Amino acid sequence: MTDERDDETDEIGLEAPERGSADELLDAGAHSDLDAMRHSAAHVMAEAVLDLFPGTRLGIGPAIADGFYYDFALARPLTPDDLAAIEARMTDSIAADHAFVRRELPPAEGRAFFAERGQPFKVEILDDLAAKSEREGTPMPPTSVYEHGPFVDLCKGPHVASTGRIGPFKLLAVAGAYWRGDAKRPMLQRVYGTVWPTQEELGQYLWRREQAKLRDHRRLGVQLDLFSFHDISPGAAFWHPKGWTLYRTLENAMRELQARRGYQEIYTPPLVHQKLWEQSGHWDLYREHMFLIEAEDETFSLKPMNCPESTFIYRSRVRSYRELPLRLSEYGKLHRNELSGTLSGLTRVRHFVTDDAHIYVRPDQIGSEIEGLLGEVREAYSWVGLTPRFTFGTRPDKALGDPALWEKAEALIQAALDSSGVEYRVKEKDGAFYAPKIDIQVEDALGREWQTATIQIDLVMLPERFDLHYIDEEGSQQRPVAIHRAIYGSLERFIGVITEHFAGAFPLWLAPVQAVVIPIADRHLPAAEELAGLMRGRGLRVEVDGSDNRMQNKIRLAQAQKVPYMVVLGDREVEARTASPRTRAGEQQPAEPWDAFADRLATESRERRVE
Ligand SMILES: [Zn+2]
Ligand SMILES: [Zn+2]
Repeated sequence: MTDERDDETDEIGLEAPERGSADELLDAGAHSDLDAMRHSAAHVMAEAVLDLFPGTRLGIGPAIADGFYYDFALARPLTPDDLAAIEARMTDSIAADHAFVRRELPPAEGRAFFAERGQPFKVEILDDLAAKSEREGTPMPPTSVYEHGPFVDLCKGPHVASTGRIGPFKLLAVAGAYWRGDAKRPMLQRVYGTVWPTQEELGQYLWRREQAKLRDHRRLGVQLDLFSFHDISPGAAFWHPKGWTLYRTLENAMRELQARRGYQEIYTPPLVHQKLWEQSGHWDLYREHMFLIEAEDETFSLKPMNCPESTFIYRSRVRSYRELPLRLSEYGKLHRNELSGTLSGLTRVRHFVTDDAHIYVRPDQIGSEIEGLLGEVREAYSWVGLTPRFTFGTRPDKALGDPALWEKAEALIQAALDSSGVEYRVKEKDGAFYAPKIDIQVEDALGREWQTATIQIDLVMLPERFDLHYIDEEGSQQRPVAIHRAIYGSLERFIGVITEHFAGAFPLWLAPVQAVVIPIADRHLPAAEELAGLMRGRGLRVEVDGSDNRMQNKIRLAQAQKVPYMVVLGDREVEARTASPRTRAGEQQPAEPWDAFADRLATESRERRVE
């Protein structure tokens, strides 16, 4: 059932967190001028709905990212025609340029006002506030309402000065939403809209939204036969052969980079005793997100992260300063118990793998190690043609560990960022409680920003809680620093992001099928197999389309699968042993001998070129 709800929410493409408490319900989400305009549009929409459908009971109508919504209890479901009618009424109200006027009513009068108008949800919010005031022994505040033209709403504001200030808008969709996010309460109809200061911005937003739908990785996952999702394991992908090829290709590229950089790969158990999480601190802070499993009266959990387990390998023997940096990488399967209602495709999952590593260094090695890591990040993102952006999060107020060490670590990170020549933002107090960190974001082809990778310089959690040491030059025990780093981040999420970024047309090195050889007639089939074999011998992933389809159909099929190269073989090509490749973009390339063609593709693939 959860999948249905997800599809609905994602169809809308607007983020709308649930609001349960009276305070949340009264938060208009209007924290900027743009948001105040969006929330004002919600009032105007409620005015139009009440006008068209007398007796409508009103829920709430806050501003959200890119737009607004309002929840309504109506006698029947709204249709697309209704939305057009509502839009028309809204346009009238905006043209009338009604002023938004705030008024305060004594609490009893405020409650009576909404009760008389048949608005039980508004009355419920006021009753909740009254109960809260009584509990806390504070006086019930006056009822704040905003009025424009014929419409009055319970509201704390803020609003724009008048309806005329509301820019070009469009209603987008209707979805079901439980009152107060509670499945036991009535299901209301949530109407989503978007509004922008200019027609141009509205147009751009609607274009981005349309593109995002076309590029939706769940849709492309089915179309390209990459992965699927099933109710028997919510929040986990079933990887089909082509999707798994993509997955392993990414993983192996990172393995190759890591081998060059002196990493060693480890693997630790997914099922671990509660004791470990008590020691790491996750038991107190993170238990609700862990899947727990009972066995022989003991409690275990599926690991939500790899971090603490790597310390058991570090501690398996005495470490000398000469062994550091010790770079341990791990592709561990992680499980996090996210609410089923928040799961979505590959980007919000319960089951995933990160390209994780824990690097143990001496304090004097922090700077050079970070420089190396920034280089890794830049290299890996060049493989997918994305430019990473860096954000440096410094010491939060409630930080663990020696402030002097924090200061030193922060200075080293800053120096490493500066000398790497990367641009970065500083986010004060945004570090983890145990570590300053560098977060990495990318902007995709639609200008959407994604948080992917992270580098954390851990002074406390692993080194102190797991009592790690190394022996220095003088033979005395010293505390190492642990660096947590993931470059793709979650492979699942990364694949979701790049699938949408490339709209499924992956660069050659990542494409699950890199070329299709298309024999024109049956008599060309043996030659097609020979060419494919020659290409496979160079490590390329090649298919032969030996079906009965006509040649044009075979080409169309390969194009729909976004295969980078198609090679059609007829009498002439077989005779001359040449290939005249055609790209998925429709470009016809000049004929070249089979070996030269295979060598060219193998080089392009090995170099991980992005067109
Ligand atoms: Zn309002
Ligand atoms: Zn870690």
